[in-house]
Amino acid sequence: MSELARQSGISEQIVAFGAEWLPGEPLSQHTSLGVGGPADIIRMHDPRRLPDITAFLHGHGVPWRILGGGSNLLVADQGLPDVLLQLARGEAMTFAGNRAEAPAATNLGAAVLECAKQNLGGMEGLAGVPGTVGGALRMNAGAYGTEIGDVVRALTVFHGATGLFETVKTENVRFEYRHTRFSTDDVVLTATLELRDCPYAVIRERIKQCNRKRLASQPIQERSAGCIFKNPPGHSAGKMIDALGLKGTRAGGAVISEQHANFIVNRDHATAADILKLMDLIRARVLKAYGLELEEEVIVWRE
Ligand SMILES: Cc1cc2nc3c(=O)[nH]c(=O)nc-3n(C[C@H](O)[C@H](O)[C@H](O)COP(=O)(O)OP(=O)(O)OC[C@H]3O[C@@H](n4cnc5c(N)ncnc54)[C@H](O)[C@@H]3O)c2cc1C
Repeated sequence: MSELARQSGISEQIVAFGAEWLPGEPLSQHTSLGVGGPADIIRMHDPRRLPDITAFLHGHGVPWRILGGGSNLLVADQGLPDVLLQLARGEAMTFAGNRAEAPAATNLGAAVLECAKQNLGGMEGLAGVPGTVGGALRMNAGAYGTEIGDVVRALTVFHGATGLFETVKTENVRFEYRHTRFSTDDVVLTATLELRDCPYAVIRERIKQCNRKRLASQPIQERSAGCIFKNPPGHSAGKMIDALGLKGTRAGGAVISEQHANFIVNRDHATAADILKLMDLIRARVLKAYGLELEEEVIVWRE
């Protein structure tokens, strides 16, 4: 937990910023992996107050990070001393012609469906990616041939370093494979998406196809953070892990999925330490067998 939680009257001050104060939240309840110790969360209902809140945290010497839907996070068992800022869901998406404006807190799958209802396609592959639009933009989430960076035309970003808001054009954001050049204190607030005209029924069918493929190849009924490692250029991390016979390997309550070798699932009250142990094992075995260093796709928040 943060230094702030030890002080009195914090809740009232946070509420005055139009936000909620959720001290000591178990992050196992805020992440799809279901692991992680306590941290204080400030849920923001008015992103325009970000300069005030971050200045307040800075004044108290408390570091902060931004939490989206928690679907790509592995958080330490002992929790975090940082405050986690989370944008509350609230505002709806808006549409003008082929363009959609999505608040960062919007659920990504819901955003794809909202666009479909407007007969706007191009994001079907992303329909089954859990989490928020903001998290997807930070990660440049992608699936079945589409990356979110392909359809983004502009973003509104709050820069924690300067306390300023900026409208950023896509050409100034480097959308790379599961990576962008935002710094950790950049908060994405809205995204302008440019989509293609497409009948709703066609989009819906494409989404169904992607969902069928996902269901057949990924353990989506179990707790995970999706793929743990990025694919090295020209290689598939999952295929290498599978070829090494590591599917089903267990550490405590964590298991390398029998269905998809690049997924580690929390099958039985796993800890972050269990998952990190399996990640170390995979990394060492892949390095020895293939001479390749696997890079984490999951974001690991250690203390
Ligand atoms: C079953 C399953 C399947 C998955 N399949 C895929 C897949 O096919 N393709 C894929 O790419 N990913 C996949 N993932 C991973 C995950 O869903 C994506 O990375 C997702 O985009 C993360 O979004 P989030 O809101 O949950 O972000 P979080 O996990 O909360 O955060 C991830 C990162 O984004 C940052 N962040 C969050 N919100 C913002 C914001 N508003 N501004 C700036 N930074 C922010 C966080 O600080 C953190 O660094 C899968 C995960 C699961 C559990």
